[in-house]
Amino acid sequence: MKPVTLDTIVSLAKRRGFVFQSSEIYGGLNGCWDYGSLGVELLRNLKDAWWKSMTYRDDIEGVDASILMHPRVWEASGHVANFTDPMIDNKTSKARYRADTLIEDYIAKLEKNGKTDRAKAVRERLAAAREPDDFYQIIVDEEITDPVGGSKDWTPVRYFNLMFKTFVGPVEDTNSVVYLRPETAQGIFVNFRNVLDSARQKVPFGIAQVGKAFRNEINTKYFLFRTREFEQMEMQYFVKPGTHSEQFEYWREQRFQWFLDLGMSPEMIRFKPHDKLAHYADAAVDIEYKFPFGWGEIEGIHSRTDFDLKRHEEFSGKKLEFVDTVTRDRFVPYVIETSVGASRSFMAFLCHAYNVENVGGADGEDAERTVLKFHPKLAPVKAAVLPLVKKDGMPEFADKLYRDLQKSFNVQYDESAAVGRRYRRQDEIGTPFCITIDGDSLQDNTVTIRERDTMQQIRVAAETVKEYVMKSLL
Ligand code: ATP
Repeated sequence: MKPVTLDTIVSLAKRRGFVFQSSEIYGGLNGCWDYGSLGVELLRNLKDAWWKSMTYRDDIEGVDASILMHPRVWEASGHVANFTDPMIDNKTSKARYRADTLIEDYIAKLEKNGKTDRAKAVRERLAAAREPDDFYQIIVDEEITDPVGGSKDWTPVRYFNLMFKTFVGPVEDTNSVVYLRPETAQGIFVNFRNVLDSARQKVPFGIAQVGKAFRNEINTKYFLFRTREFEQMEMQYFVKPGTHSEQFEYWREQRFQWFLDLGMSPEMIRFKPHDKLAHYADAAVDIEYKFPFGWGEIEGIHSRTDFDLKRHEEFSGKKLEFVDTVTRDRFVPYVIETSVGASRSFMAFLCHAYNVENVGGADGEDAERTVLKFHPKLAPVKAAVLPLVKKDGMPEFADKLYRDLQKSFNVQYDESAAVGRRYRRQDEIGTPFCITIDGDSLQDNTVTIRERDTMQQIRVAAETVKEYVMKSLL
C-alpha cells in the first residue's frame, strides 16, 4: 500500500464532507476549519468515546465550564506571563516563524543527514534556551536559513503571547479585558471545591471536560494539527502527594490503551518523554502519532504537582485543600493531567483509517477501493440500507428497515447506481455495514449484511440487524 499523503486526506475530507476550510467562499480564515455532516459525526463519536471511558466510572466527574473566565485566572495559571512562543521574522521573505520550530526542523534535517552528534548538541542548546536571544544565537551560529527563500537575514527573536484577547461589556479598556481560554484545564481547577463538595468525592478523584480552546498560533499548519481554534478533552486527577508517580504511570498506560482500543495500531503511536519540563511539572510524557508528515503529539500526560491549586489559593484567597475526614489529613492535592486534542486526534484517526486496496473488479465495482477502516464506534455512519433494485417492493422494505435502524444510530439509505458502486461509496466514508435487500427478502424476511473490512456477506433475519450492528458499538 502506498503511504498516504496529507493532501489526499485533506481532499477526501472536503469531497466527502468531513472538513471544510472555514469561511471558504471568502478565501478562508487561516487556522480555522469547519466540520461537515460526516466530520461532525466522527468528532462527536470520538468525544463520546472519550467521555464514556473517562467519566462513566466512580471517581471522575464531568464539567462544562465557560470559555470566558475571570482574567485573574490567567494570571494565577501563569498564562499572562508565560504562555508565549518565541517568534522570528525573515527580513527578506517577510515570513514569520516560531524560532523553536525553525530550530527543531533544522535538527531533524541534521539527523536525517546522519549528523547525529551535531543534532544532539543543538538539541541540548534548544532545551536550555530561555531568553529570546538564546534562540536567536542558535539560529545565527548554525546559519539556519529561511525555508522559503534561503536568506539568513533574521530579525531578533521576540516572545509572543498566544492568548486571544477580547472585552466584556461595551467599553474596550484594560479593566474589561478577558481572554478566550487557551486550554480547558483552568475551568476544572477553579471548580475543584464545587465538584468535590457537590459530588461528595474523596481524593483521589478526577474532573473531566471537553471544550473549545483558542491559541493565536504563530504558524498554523498540517490541516487540523495546529489550528487557532480547536477542541480539547482534558482530565485532571487530584491525588495525595506521594502517590502521584504511581498515578502518573497508571494514567499514561490507560490513555495509550484508549487509542489502541479504538483501533490504532501499536506501531503508529508511541510515548515521547519531554526534553524540557514546564516549571510546574515533575513528570511529563506525550503520546505521538505517526502522521503523514512525521511523528506529532496528540496527547500530553503531565504530573503537575500542587502548582495550579496553590496558585489559585494564592490569587483567589480561597482554600483549595482536601480534608480527609477519617485520618484528619489536610493537604492541597497533586494533579495528574491527561490532555488530548479532539481535533488533532480526529485527524490521527482519519489518517489511520485511510486505506487504498486492490480488491479486483466485479459487479460494476472498481478494482481499487478507498476504504476508511474506522472502529465502528467512531464511524460517522454505522450502516447503509441498500435495496438491490428500485422495484418489486424492495425500496418499501428497505425504507421500513432504514427508519427503524435510524432510531438507534446514524444510517444512510442509497438506491442509486449498481450495488457495487454503492458499496464503494460507503467504504470511502467508513461505514462498517451495508445491508442489502433483494428479492428473497420479501419472501423470507432476510437481508444480507456486508462487512466493510472483510467484504464478507452473511444472511440474517431482518429483525436481527439492529442488534448485530449495536453489538459492534459496545
Ligand atoms: P504543541 O507543543 O504541539 O503546541 P502543547 O504541548 O502546547 O502542543 P498542550 O498544551 O499540552 O499542547 O495541549 C494538549 C493537546 O491539545 C495537544 O496534545 C494537542 O492534541 C492539542 N492542541 C494543542 N494546541 C493545538 C493546536 N494549536 N491545534 C490543535 N490542537 C492543539
